[in-house]
Amino acid sequence: MSTPLALATRTPLEDAHAQLAAAVAHLGYGEGLHRMLATARRELTVSVPLRRDDGSVAVYVGHRVQHNLSRGPAKGGLRFSPAVDLDEVRALAMWMTWKCALVDVPYGGAKGGIAIDPRAHSTAELERVTRRYTSEILPIIGPDIDIPAPDIGTDEQTMAWMMDTYSVNVGHTVPGVVTGKPISLGGSLGRASSTSRGVAHVSILALRHRRIRVDQATAVVQGFGKVGRDAARFLAEAGIRVQAVSDVDGAVYSTTGLDVPALIRHAERTGSVVGFPDAEPLDPAELLLLDVDLLVPAAIEGVITAENASRVKARVIVEGANGPTTQDADAILAERDVFVVPDILANSGGVIVSYFEWVQANQAYRWTEDEVTLRLSERITAAWNAVLAYAERRSLTLRQAATALAVERVTEAHRLRGLYP
Ligand code: NAD
Repeated sequence: MSTPLALATRTPLEDAHAQLAAAVAHLGYGEGLHRMLATARRELTVSVPLRRDDGSVAVYVGHRVQHNLSRGPAKGGLRFSPAVDLDEVRALAMWMTWKCALVDVPYGGAKGGIAIDPRAHSTAELERVTRRYTSEILPIIGPDIDIPAPDIGTDEQTMAWMMDTYSVNVGHTVPGVVTGKPISLGGSLGRASSTSRGVAHVSILALRHRRIRVDQATAVVQGFGKVGRDAARFLAEAGIRVQAVSDVDGAVYSTTGLDVPALIRHAERTGSVVGFPDAEPLDPAELLLLDVDLLVPAAIEGVITAENASRVKARVIVEGANGPTTQDADAILAERDVFVVPDILANSGGVIVSYFEWVQANQAYRWTEDEVTLRLSERITAAWNAVLAYAERRSLTLRQAATALAVERVTEAHRLRGLYP
């Protein structure tokens, strides 16, 4: 299955559709099935009016897209970002379907978002926005219907407000309606760092696969939020020299390796990595092009493009973010033998532990952190082995293999259930 270079994709949704089309072609599926897999089952767009702290009223637009429900209730994050639009949410929902199938958790895929800049709002305003959005989408969420989780611009506090709003509306406490909750409300031990732990785990497997010594490896991480921060920390703990990190405000660099725990404290104190005293400032665009063993994009979509892919010097790319590599960049990287571990495998630690959190909520029984960490590493290693074997058997890239394997599993569920009526 080759990815045609002529296919100049630009948006995450075009990338997602191109990846699906390649998988469908490889699997030999017909047009009707392709259309089923390409189309979201449900899409809800709502307006979210907000009374601002100064008494004025603003109106935001929010979405919830449930891409596929064949394997179970829908599952996916909620994003607060000015860049959110319906097509972006559609792409992210489709990727969630493949991710859940790939790591074999019993969910379909969903995503939600509000086009809002959370940094421009007070905590009280964010609470009101979250509660209003939750009540607007209430009819289509629930522990057996669709279970949101944190994503860009949202966190465990956002999930606590969602859980409370849902619970007040249905008249009893329902911890299983969201994951990524605070521990004291039934959140899972190990959930907050689970995506990052998975990214680091897969990074080590990928470096070893490429015969790069982990204790001599160098890395850079783009994005220093919930995923990037702990990914950098776990990589450093594994003995990898993290030479540069960036956030939306800028980047910092040190040839000898950044002191990641000190950098985390600096970012917590100041709100950014910029100005970290023990490092040099760096042009954030240069971070992607540094000569390192491992590049972890952990910020937003579409950062590795046809424009810069030929200048990326990293040997291994592990996608902490969803959709950081465009389809045409992917083809360039494959041609240059850069080893790319795709998002739906690399950042699946989050949804794996979200599943554990949901199981614990449904059982009303808490697991220990060691149990969570062990089961996470077992599941993500199993997915890694399955994708690697599938790719080698069929001469595919890891992304092509991961997508095709996931599409196959979703299709099997769909076929067994049949088409109603
Ligand atoms: P976050 O809001 O906690 O952090 C995002 C980080 O990216 C911030 O440091 C921000 O400053 C930075 N950023 C934004 N634009 C940037 C740019 N242009 N250049 C460099 N940095 C930039 O979000 P998060 O939860 O860490 O999510 C990051 C990515 O990981 C997203 O693609 C998300 O969908 C994906 N993801 C998150 C989870 C999760 O559990 N949170 C799970 C799977 C995938």
